[in-house]
Amino acid sequence: MCSGRVDMAFVLRAFSNGMDGVFLGGCRLNECNYVTHGNYHALNMVLLLKRIMEHIGLNPERLKIEFMSGAEANLFVEDVNGFVKKVKTLGPLGEAEGIDRQELKARLAEMSKLVPYFKLMNQEKLASRLKSPEEYEGLFTKEEIDKLFSEMVSYYIDPEKCQACMTCLRRCPAEAIVGGKNKIHVIDQDKCIKCGTCFEVCPPRFESVRKISGEPVPPPIPEEKRTLVRKAKEK
Ligand code: SF4
Ligand code: SF4
Repeated sequence: MCSGRVDMAFVLRAFSNGMDGVFLGGCRLNECNYVTHGNYHALNMVLLLKRIMEHIGLNPERLKIEFMSGAEANLFVEDVNGFVKKVKTLGPLGEAEGIDRQELKARLAEMSKLVPYFKLMNQEKLASRLKSPEEYEGLFTKEEIDKLFSEMVSYYIDPEKCQACMTCLRRCPAEAIVGGKNKIHVIDQDKCIKCGTCFEVCPPRFESVRKISGEPVPPPIPEEKRTLVRKAKEK
């Protein structure tokens, strides 16, 4: 119903399914019937995603958002027709950018996996209400997006500190944590979506989850060494 419901992941899925372009139509800005103004969320999401598309070598013009009222059918037809024409001139997704099909799938899959991370790192800007098209341009800069990727965080459970309380394992939304009762927990980096939940929920008295940026993540502790040996309390 609301353009604000269109998640970044939906757009990436459309591209992944072979769409050459994605058009979003939302209500006019400042004319939302609710306090939520979801169309601003949609606009900000599109602006961020355009930069991410650029980063992975895709033409950002393949994604477009336009605002119109339900009574402006003529405008809708005009905009959609114009966009279809544009996408046709751009050519097939990936092929026109010189990216082969497999590589394109891999890049889009990686970006889909990182959607929670992109949202987390850009929470404030994604919720902002821009006033003019000039502001649209500057909301997300190329430099910011490059930094977002170069300083990407990873999470790591320190095997020396983990007390196998299982809190992180229960709360991880991606089932990326391997562990169990009396087992030192380990993060499967391939499954991790970098949401930071484990970092937030690990009890402060353990502080076992580390946020890592700009350096490689240490290898996971071998499976045979994961049984937790609890030290007997000193008398
Ligand atoms: S950051 Fe932690 S909670 Fe979030 S997906 Fe990765 S392992 Fe799971
Ligand atoms: S919440 Fe912390 S202490 Fe508990 S299992 Fe996870 S990493 Fe270990």
